[in-house]
Amino acid sequence: MNILTPFEYYRPETLDEALELLATKEDYKILAGGTDLMIQLKEKMIHPANIIDVTQIPELNEFAIKDGEGAVIGGCTTDAFCEFSKELRDKYPAFSIAAGEIGGPQVREMGTIAGNLANSGPSAETPSSLICYDAKMTLAKKGGERVVDVKDFITGNRRNILEEGELIKNIILPEPAATTHVKYGYVAMRRMMEIDIVNMSIRVDLDGDTIKDAKCVMGSVAIRPLISEKVPEVLKGTKIGDEAVIAKAAEAAQSEVHPISDIRATAEYRVDVVGALVRKLLREIAAEAK
Ligand SMILES: Cc1cc2nc3c(=O)[nH]c(=O)nc-3n(C[C@H](O)[C@H](O)[C@H](O)COP(=O)(O)OP(=O)(O)OC[C@H]3O[C@@H](n4cnc5c(N)ncnc54)[C@H](O)[C@@H]3O)c2cc1C
Repeated sequence: MNILTPFEYYRPETLDEALELLATKEDYKILAGGTDLMIQLKEKMIHPANIIDVTQIPELNEFAIKDGEGAVIGGCTTDAFCEFSKELRDKYPAFSIAAGEIGGPQVREMGTIAGNLANSGPSAETPSSLICYDAKMTLAKKGGERVVDVKDFITGNRRNILEEGELIKNIILPEPAATTHVKYGYVAMRRMMEIDIVNMSIRVDLDGDTIKDAKCVMGSVAIRPLISEKVPEVLKGTKIGDEAVIAKAAEAAQSEVHPISDIRATAEYRVDVVGALVRKLLREIAAEAK
């Protein structure tokens, strides 16, 4: 039976109260939706003496989105909210779609965006699109806050830059230009609650039909989201939708990944999928830009 190891449970109702607990309690874990954490507790992978539930803190549940000003999404915003928010779907479709691919409906109703980032799994669904949108996050601890780029947050398999006593307060998405296109795609074993074999987001900034700038971020091919150096080099200055360029971009991405083989896929298959996703997403962007 999965009987939990005893712990003290705290549910602060203000940010200050939470930060005080995080500063004074040793051996704690932050709890949001619990869809990752409860499994780790039940499997006895972790034995924290204290659990600090941050779901009642107003700042972690705020949501603001305005034309021309981007969006601020509190850390405890659920994956389901991000999936169904029309405003997010309209302005940040790749992120909204990625959030809607996490687990199944029950998981998304409980799971949160901060939890997805802080869990820092190599196949996490949301980091690649957030990085493509140049998202930042506010990390808060007693005595101060810092704003960091999402691209610098995850440092390895279940590792990130969160310090002792620090929590994710919110995620900040800048306003995208009308000429910015971001697409998200993934391949998993089958249409079920299966961890991705590869996921990817591609961003293209256009000047007319010429690619001014580009980004390609891949998940599940390294211990942290892999930001391609070569794909932007191939794409910049070319015409959107040029099939020869698309093929070169796919090869460039494939040359940068060195994935592992595991129960979900072989390394060779993952490399094939990387090429296929680059081609698919660039064709989708070309169609959208027309
Ligand atoms: C059946 C199933 C299927 C799943 N499928 C997917 C999938 O397809 N793709 C995917 O990416 N994930 C998947 N997940 C994982 C999980 O659902 C998501 O990562 C979810 O978004 C985690 O959010 P949570 O609020 O439940 O996190 P929790 O479990 O509460 O916490 C996860 C980690 O984040 C920390 N944390 C939470 N909130 C904060 C905060 N505000 N500040 C600092 N640290 C914090 C916790 O301490 C813990 O270490 C799946 C999980 C299950 C159970």
